[in-house]
Formats: sequence, C-alpha cells, structure tokens
Amino acid sequence: KLFDPRPKTSRDSLFDRERELEELHRAVDRGLPLVALLGVRRVGKTSVLRTFLGEVNGLYVDARGLVRRADLETRVADALSESLGRLRRFLEGVRGVSVAGFSVEVRWRGRDSVSLAGLLSEIDKRGERFVFALDEVQQSKPPVSAELRSVLAYGYDNLENVTFVVVGSEVGMLRDFLALEDPSSPLYGRYAYEVHVERFSEDLSREFLERGFREEGVEPPPGVVEEAVGFFDGIVGWLVLFGRGYVDGAGSVEELKRAAVNLAAEELGKLSPRERMVLRAVAEGCRSWSEVRRYVDERFGVALPKATLSRIIEKLEKLSIIRGYEFLDPVYREAARR
Ligand code: ADP
Repeated sequence: KLFDPRPKTSRDSLFDRERELEELHRAVDRGLPLVALLGVRRVGKTSVLRTFLGEVNGLYVDARGLVRRADLETRVADALSESLGRLRRFLEGVRGVSVAGFSVEVRWRGRDSVSLAGLLSEIDKRGERFVFALDEVQQSKPPVSAELRSVLAYGYDNLENVTFVVVGSEVGMLRDFLALEDPSSPLYGRYAYEVHVERFSEDLSREFLERGFREEGVEPPPGVVEEAVGFFDGIVGWLVLFGRGYVDGAGSVEELKRAAVNLAAEELGKLSPRERMVLRAVAEGCRSWSEVRRYVDERFGVALPKATLSRIIEKLEKLSIIRGYEFLDPVYREAARR
C-alpha cells in the first residue's frame, strides 16, 4: 500500500522510481566500487535502496546514530540474519561466522574472529556481485565513522566483487564524510558514482495521492489532493504522512499540514539559536548574505560576525536544508518561520 509509512521494499509497493533502480542496477553490473544515492530527506532513498537490495545480493545497514563499534557489529549481524535465505551461500565456511537456524552469529573478537573488512573479503571471494549498503552513513559518529571509512577504502581498493552504496540526505555532509578530495582521507582520489532520487513532479504527486486514496477506498473531496500537491512539493514522505493521516481521519487538511511542519520544526530544533535565526531570515525571503545579516540584526538584535554567518550558511547548505538562499523543502521553510 502506498500510504504505508514504512520504507517500501519491493516494486509492488514502490511508486515510480524505475529510472533510479535502473541506474543502480547498471552501476552494480558494471562493477563500480562506490555509489552514492543522494536526495533530500523523505524523498524516498531508503525505499529505492531496499527495493534494489531485494533484487541483488546484498546487505543493508542503517548507519544513523551509530557510535559504538559493538552497535555496528550488531547491526551487521542482524542484517545478515535478515537476508539469510539469500546470503547463506556467501557465509558458509567463513571463519568467525556461524549460522544456526535462521540467525547468524559473528565472532568479532578473540580467537577465530572476523572483522567487517575480513567478512567482506570472504564474501568477495565467492566471485558473485555483492552490494554493501550504508544508509545515512554521514550520521555515524567516531569511532564507527572512521571504521566505516576505512572499510570503504579497503573495499574500494581490494574487493572486486563488492559495490558499496552509501546513502545521504545531507549531501554536503556525505561529501565531507567520504572526503574524496581530502589528501588525509583514506578515500582520497577515489570516485563515487552518483544516483539522485528526485522529488515527484506535480503530475506524479497527484497520481500518487489519487492511487493511494483509491487503494484505501477513500474518495477525497475535490481540492484536498490539489492542496497537498501544492504544499508538499513532490516529497513523497510528506505525501504518505498526509494521505495516511487523512484516511485515518487524523485531522483536517490544515491540521495535517501543521503536523508535517511540526515534525520539520522538531528537527530544526536541533540547530543552534544562531543557525535558526539565519534560517528564519532565509524563510522570510532574504536572498543574500547582507540581507540575512540585516534581518538577524533588526529582528533579533544579534550582530553576526561575517565569518560566523558564512560558516552557518555553509553548514545549512551541507545539511541540505537550503541551497542558494532557498529551502530545498517548503515544509522546512514553514517550520523555520515559527
Ligand atoms: P528517505 O530515505 O529519502 O528519507 P524513505 O524511503 O524513508 O525516504 O521514504 C519516506 C516515506 O515515503 C516512507 O513512508 C515511504 O514508505 C514513502 N515512500 C518513499 N518512496 C516511495 C515510493 N516510491 N512509493 C511509495 N512510497 C514511498
């Protein structure tokens, strides 16, 4: 069902996205070592990725919030268990890995243990293409982030049959994480093939909502679909939230829009007060550095030093909240005006 809020995992429930899936398949068939799957929050990257992983041999690890090595290890072992049916033949005979029934145990430490790089290298030896996917990898933190970077570098250089797919909403942060252009990075000088997940056009958004409502046996009053198409700008995660809420009778159109804005506001709440002031200025229409500065000064009585303002703008761009003094997602613009 289209309005199911969980990430989609197969083409039956995935709307559109043939182009993205095709690009991923082509990249993997060509044996590219590193693919970056990029797009704003809620545009549907995880859904594309998981659907893709249903069609190839691979492993999906969500890197959000990973800090401790043990947590990374648990997630990898869980991911192996989850796809055991397909992966069994890759794991047979690998030192440190035991398969009992439907679960996989990995000894990561001590005698007869295996490291993540070691495990991937065993998988590589099977001679079949294998995809190791890391979702929101830029949101992992040291020491796990360093470990992942070195596994990526090791794999890039040594594992012929493994393609790494890294996913990022925060495009700049992902670029910083991979640091392909930083001589001190283990990935320096490597190349990432980019696949972009784009927002839906107005026509596709409309078709998405109409099909979603039809699936639920609900005929929305005229105007409701148009209202959502206009407000959510083709970002499918918002369309799902809206459609689901409407079908469940969770509120009026206005209330459902507000609920989305609240979610975005919650995320913006994690930014510093100054960063939020700058966002407010951009949300109110400031289109240049000096306009932002004047706005923040007049409205909040804060004189931002030039260097600070540049740093803030750069960070907000790296987080993919704004680009060129425009919000990438209008729901965040509304949230910033609160
Ligand atoms: P992202 O990884 O970009 O944040 P997700 O894949 O988690 O996005 O999707 C956000 C929401 O939108 C989820 O509720 C998911 O079910 C829905 N969704 C995403 N892409 C599609 C699609 N192509 N068809 C139907 N629903 C989708």
